Amino acid sequence: MSDAIDAPLYLEPRLAAGPAALLRSGPSLHALVDALGSPLNVVLPGQVEHNLAEFGAVLRRHHLSGRIYLAHKATGSSALVRHLAATGAGIDVASLGELQHALGAGFVPGRVMATGPKDPAFLWLAARCGVTVNVDGPAELQAAARLVRRYGLPRLPVVLRLSEFGTTGPRTLSRRSRFGTSVKELGPLLDLLDRYPDALEPVGVGYHLDTTSADEKAVALEGCLRAVEELRLRGFAPRAIDVGGGFGVSYLAHAAQWEHWTSALTQAVLGRREPLTWGGHGYGLRVEHGTLKGALALYPAHRPVAGAAYLDELLLRPAPSLGRPLGTLLLESLCDLYAEPGRALLDQCGLTLGRVLEVRADGAGGPPQVRLALNAGDVGLEDHGVLVDPLLLPRGAGTGPHPGPGRGADPGPDRGPVGVYLMGNLCLEADLITRRIVWLPRLPQPGDLLAFPNTAGYCMDFTATRAQRQPVARKIAAGEEGGTWRWCLDEQYWPVTSDGGT
Ligand SMILES: *Cc1c(COP(=O)(O)O)cnc(C)c1O
Repeated sequence: MSDAIDAPLYLEPRLAAGPAALLRSGPSLHALVDALGSPLNVVLPGQVEHNLAEFGAVLRRHHLSGRIYLAHKATGSSALVRHLAATGAGIDVASLGELQHALGAGFVPGRVMATGPKDPAFLWLAARCGVTVNVDGPAELQAAARLVRRYGLPRLPVVLRLSEFGTTGPRTLSRRSRFGTSVKELGPLLDLLDRYPDALEPVGVGYHLDTTSADEKAVALEGCLRAVEELRLRGFAPRAIDVGGGFGVSYLAHAAQWEHWTSALTQAVLGRREPLTWGGHGYGLRVEHGTLKGALALYPAHRPVAGAAYLDELLLRPAPSLGRPLGTLLLESLCDLYAEPGRALLDQCGLTLGRVLEVRADGAGGPPQVRLALNAGDVGLEDHGVLVDPLLLPRGAGTGPHPGPGRGADPGPDRGPVGVYLMGNLCLEADLITRRIVWLPRLPQPGDLLAFPNTAGYCMDFTATRAQRQPVARKIAAGEEGGTWRWCLDEQYWPVTSDGGT
């Protein structure tokens, strides 16, 4: 039973060259947190351009033209959005605020797509500017057409978002979604388009499936190829298929660590080893009458294929009923490929720093508790089911004032690997940064920093709150030019230097 205490169960992060260099040789992260407070988010605009280029290479490899739209909802960073505005990327906006932000960052309307639920103001501004509207259903299509006529706007490009695709083969894959129009309702949708030829221009069809399943996406992509045919038979001229987002990120460096950890969790839930989690939390697993039940409700943190490589694999797959590769069929359909990656385009584009405030020994001999100046909302890894270790950045001698001794009992010698619980700064029993025991190479000390890697996609923005009037993290943009690191506040970043150079 002592295995859990003695053998570290690391979940080491995958680190690309950019964030690795930032952690190794970037601006002093300690000095930045001293100045700007904890938590602090750092984004790397250069990395998002690198990721975009990988998606572009996949399109070229399949001889496809198209556009990669950043799903804005995955980030609150102005620097990352503005940096992409200077590239050939598009942006997918899902609210009035995101649309305003994208336009203000320099995205011209031809490179903006409006998705998601739309209120009248959002739809009006989208139509007024002539951005492509990814329509959810007949009601929205009609609302858009009426706006265009009423305000005398130019013909509005629309993409029809479809859902509930099935195959004609023996297997039917159909998933219910809140969004999109069932492919079975495509006919009536086209009837509606027929009534507004002056107002609406159907430029394509698409889907977004929030799943890692490539089977399901292959069925959806084939369904879109059929829908394009149907539009053409009805006299429309669609020219794009939008495959949405959901290409995924591999957060961990080692598949073996992930397998080891998940099997250890199973053992712990079965009571065959010490708990790995606060209160024996099972992440979806439980025991009933001695047998394991439930399903692991975690993001697959190690993924052999993710991001642009996932798109590549999808395009290489044979279409479920047509049999030939989806990429080839797409090419023959003369359609552009649109994709809307959020998480995958933001892979490795940022990290979150939190200061250690206190290290408290557990009176009952359990793992020490490390209290941080950040909370579970600031680093939403647990909320998104992503398990990955933070990196320990000790406060070196002479780098500034020590924030004071921890209030707890001395947890003992700080040599060697140790499993700890990471506690947040809210006065809430549930405010654990993660409910699992996190293994660190040594026991942290007050004043040290923990760097949570790869938080730019969703984790640093989506769940941050002002609960208890704790500070929301400041955000800085950092990058290396000719061996020198530069940084600025996120909102002060523009892809041009103050002297006008780029
Ligand atoms: C959230 C969302 C995306 C991005 O999803 P990721 O999993 O982050 O790639 C793309 N398109 C739409 C319509 C979305 O709602």
